[in-house]
Amino acid sequence: MAVSFDLTGKTAIVTGANTGLGQAISVALAQAGADVALVGRSSMADTEAAVGAAGGRSLSIQADLSTLEPVDRIISETVAWTGRADILVNNAGIIRRADAIDFTEADWDAVMDVNLKTVFFLSQAFARRLIGEGKGGKIVNIASLLSFQGGIRIPSYTASKSGLAGLTRLLACEWAAKGINVNAIAPGYFSTNNTEALRNDPDRNSAILGRIPAGHWGQPEELGGAAVFLASPAADYIHGIVLPVDGGWLAR
Ligand code: NAP
Repeated sequence: MAVSFDLTGKTAIVTGANTGLGQAISVALAQAGADVALVGRSSMADTEAAVGAAGGRSLSIQADLSTLEPVDRIISETVAWTGRADILVNNAGIIRRADAIDFTEADWDAVMDVNLKTVFFLSQAFARRLIGEGKGGKIVNIASLLSFQGGIRIPSYTASKSGLAGLTRLLACEWAAKGINVNAIAPGYFSTNNTEALRNDPDRNSAILGRIPAGHWGQPEELGGAAVFLASPAADYIHGIVLPVDGGWLAR
């Protein structure tokens, strides 16, 4: 049997799809044949156009992921569109920067809510539907190098992404036998809104660049292949991994 990365006939849900890594993942999934539900709080116009240009179909779902309000609606609106939901990419995430000694409760809660709490309950809603139908599926969480490392000045972000790695493994253990693959991607340093402050700081920028064996900041398109792989039949026996896509950062 030929190895298949084909997602034709599948429906994917991507959170935070309006920009950055979520946009690139949405386009890559569409190029592999999936219909893509674009979830977020901002206009999806750019991503809709990019998915269309790639020959794909998309549905935009308005959702503020800082609360659990949209969780069930995201699944039901997706299923009302194509009749199915096969792939969930938990990509939306935020970061707040301050020294640990000064870090506020508000910055702690805001990050944990979007990066961890909503991810868990959206994954639960997605899995309940799949298990109820007796079908398998794929969950791909967007973790971070801060799932492996400590970092500085981002305590809630590191806690959330380290927690997400653990959650990925727990859900994989509970749902693997039900045909649901739960895995994560740990992006290295990619050029998006999330890292704008780092790239604008000449010292941090050159320190980071100097440590990346590939010698350049990741471009969002460089993440798409890993998402397609983990969402595809080629990854059917892969459960609970956190796959770095980091230009060699962790190998250094
Ligand atoms: P980004 O451009 O800031 O994208 C973050 C996405 O999350 C945006 O679509 C954003 O929507 C969405 N989002 C945030 N809060 C939301 C909320 N309450 N409701 C709905 N959507 C919300 O940064 P990115 O780099 O593409 O980040 C994508 C993921 O990759 C994040 O989980 C991030 O932690 C992770 N990551 C990024 C890097 C990197 O180097 N860039 C490295 C490791 C991990 P708005 O545009 O409306 O805010």
